[in-house]
Amino acid sequence: MFGKITLSIIKPDAVKKGYIVPILSKIVHSGFHIIALKMTELSKTSAKKFYAEHKNKLFFESLIKFMSSGPIVSVILQKENAVKDFRILIGNTNPIHAKEGTIRNLYASSLEKNAIHGSDNNQNAFEESLFHFSNREIFFK
Ligand code: AMP
Repeated sequence: MFGKITLSIIKPDAVKKGYIVPILSKIVHSGFHIIALKMTELSKTSAKKFYAEHKNKLFFESLIKFMSSGPIVSVILQKENAVKDFRILIGNTNPIHAKEGTIRNLYASSLEKNAIHGSDNNQNAFEESLFHFSNREIFFK
């Protein structure tokens, strides 16, 4: 599966605005298979672990507060070149720079509240998947 999965999170802003279904619909219509999915919430402690690489950034505390502010949807997606293709589908981190038709262009409201997460490389896709799901929750096709 290494190289064929990516981990996505529909973030609290998009969940609150009712965008779960339109976002998942766009993902599936773009050729990704959902192999694990759950609606959950991140505690501050979990959010800090998930975003540990950003712990020295100025936006870290605000990001942790935001990511633990309400329900999220965690999803493992399967496709050839999943990481790269998914990052194209979601668009630039900053929605102002996200291309038309990308998920962040359509559904994000700011650089922080940018609707969706996608793993940035294959190793992180694997580790982030195991952060959110146990082996028995993952159904590979
Ligand atoms: P990344 O690991 O690049 O996806 O960054 C993690 C998340 O932190 C992004 O998806 C944004 O929600 C947030 N973020 C990244 N850069 C900034 C920034 N300069 N200011 C505020 N939030 C940011």
